[in-house]
Amino acid sequence: MVYRACAPGSLPPPVASLADPLPKAAARYTDAMQAEPAEPLAIPRSVAGLVERLRAERREAFLVGGCVRALHAGTPVHDFDVATDAAPEEVLALFPRAVPIGIRHGTVMVPTPDGPIDVTRYRGEGGLEGDLRRRDFTVNAVALDPRDGRIVDPCGGLADLAAGRLRAVGSAAERLAEDPVRALRAARFTSTLPLDPDAALEEAMAEQAGPLARVAGERIRDELARLLLGPRADAGLALLRRTGLEARLAPGVGEDAAAVVAALPRELELRLAGWLRGTRAAAILARLRFGRTRTRAVEQILALHPLEERVRPGSGVAARRLLARAGAERVAAAVRLREAELGAGGLPPAERDEARARLREVETAVARALADGGVALGRRQLAVDGRLLMEWLGCGPGPEVGAALRHLTERVIEDPALNTPERLRTELERWRQAPRGEDREARPRGARGPE
Ligand code: ATP
Ligand code: MG
Repeated sequence: MVYRACAPGSLPPPVASLADPLPKAAARYTDAMQAEPAEPLAIPRSVAGLVERLRAERREAFLVGGCVRALHAGTPVHDFDVATDAAPEEVLALFPRAVPIGIRHGTVMVPTPDGPIDVTRYRGEGGLEGDLRRRDFTVNAVALDPRDGRIVDPCGGLADLAAGRLRAVGSAAERLAEDPVRALRAARFTSTLPLDPDAALEEAMAEQAGPLARVAGERIRDELARLLLGPRADAGLALLRRTGLEARLAPGVGEDAAAVVAALPRELELRLAGWLRGTRAAAILARLRFGRTRTRAVEQILALHPLEERVRPGSGVAARRLLARAGAERVAAAVRLREAELGAGGLPPAERDEARARLREVETAVARALADGGVALGRRQLAVDGRLLMEWLGCGPGPEVGAALRHLTERVIEDPALNTPERLRTELERWRQAPRGEDREARPRGARGPE
């Protein structure tokens, strides 16, 4: 494997400092260096520069974690992690714009034009190799010297990566017991990378179902979100299910959830809805610290599910009322959710085809309502505004104006042709003269009911 750094170092080669304390690793990375990548690897100038700067201070600095996997596989790198023997205080002094982000773990974030770089001091004793041996999975325990592309791989991470194997560094049971979130990380990596856990890791995951309850919700949320958005979310979810973690995190998830999620676009709220259909979704999301806005969005999507049973198919009025109530975005999400569910094959074919046909009808009616630009779905699209209404009513701002606006909006949803100033004025007169209690309650008529 030959890596080419963008900014070749002018300092003496790092091999001596590396190879001496790490003879075994050195032998391994010579093996790994046999294969040539299809493309020379581009390491951003800022990353190369940061490493050079540390080297100039006679410090070690290696790329580690996800960026090494991505560079190795030739996939895009989204963030760079650097491991060093420099203390956080030293890194802070060297890079004036650096900020400490995890002093407990010795991590400093250095903002650069190529994005933030996390610089972390080697954990524990034993230099780079000691640090790598304390990491969670072998594929994450690979370091790369960006100056010349040398790889340090004491645990066989590249071989596991090539074999599609997710393996804990050392004893899986011990590794996961140290930090139960690693069980979720295993499922996350199964989803985001083409890797499957080995038997020991899967067994160790199952042992963490209980201990995971003691972990901060935010850490669980972050891993779950990444799992749900991964290209192999179905594999990640199936693993959560097999190990009993899913039942702990989200009791009541349906049999078809993994297939439904995988069939959905990679949007978090939609995928959360797909995963949590049929559960007490709001309570689960709150416990997992997903936040009020996100929880609310998922609830709203689920409230429209299954869409063709919530709305009378083919009806224009129903489609407009639905859009006025839920908004185009939520309705589109509900269509996608039902499509994914029907595609996942949980229903008998006849029932499924029937549901599909009804869903198409709802979709067509919704599309027509949206395409028809003149349709007022809310007060803002009404052909009159509050000011003109007050003039017609001969009153100032107050509940009367609000009630009139609500009434007119509802009437226009029923009959879009009414949305002209003249016809709205006639309708307003009719409404004003209607006897109280009948047509003049605060709640416009027809606003209730399933449509
Ligand atoms: P990504 O591509 O998602 O950034 P990553 O492997 O870089 O993947 P990070 O969460 O950024 O994942 O962590 C960086 C590295 O730090 C990991 O590769 C791993 O070596 C180590 N690490 C992070 N969290 C843990 C943990 N809970 N236990 C052990 N090692 C961890
Ligand atoms: Mg990372």
